[in-house]
Amino acid sequence: MLEVAIKLLQKNNYKITKQRRSLLDYLSHFQEHYVAVSAVDKYMHEIYPGMSHNTIYRNIKEFEEVGIIENKLRDGSAWVKYQCDFVHQHHHHFVCKKCGKVQEVQMCPLDFFEEQLPGCRIDEHHFELYGICADCIRLGKE
Ligand SMILES: [Zn+2]
Ligand SMILES: [Zn+2]
Ligand SMILES: [Zn+2]
Repeated sequence: MLEVAIKLLQKNNYKITKQRRSLLDYLSHFQEHYVAVSAVDKYMHEIYPGMSHNTIYRNIKEFEEVGIIENKLRDGSAWVKYQCDFVHQHHHHFVCKKCGKVQEVQMCPLDFFEEQLPGCRIDEHHFELYGICADCIRLGKE
């Protein structure tokens, strides 16, 4: 699973340093759930005490730029997750309010909104669905 990510980094001229490799390993555990950037920073700083917070944050940013991770703001703080779909990087999510599981939704509603805003140019959009996932419903967690 990391192969695609490593290729993307190399294609964008990033060296696969020990630190980037560890960061990638760690983030790959978060494909179905978001993790707070502060928690990623804490984890990296524990294994590499010599690595500055700036460098850690910069590496996270680089991963975002090449599309290895997805990000969002929640309650004023930054959260990231491993890319769920390298082929369709533009997609949306259904997030379970009970367990936090993230599922990919491929349909993008942008066309629908563009229709309602004739003459305007929409530059960005964030769209997420919230609810209870099938597993949580089955287990009666709701
Ligand atoms: Zn995703
Ligand atoms: Zn759930
Ligand atoms: Zn979209």
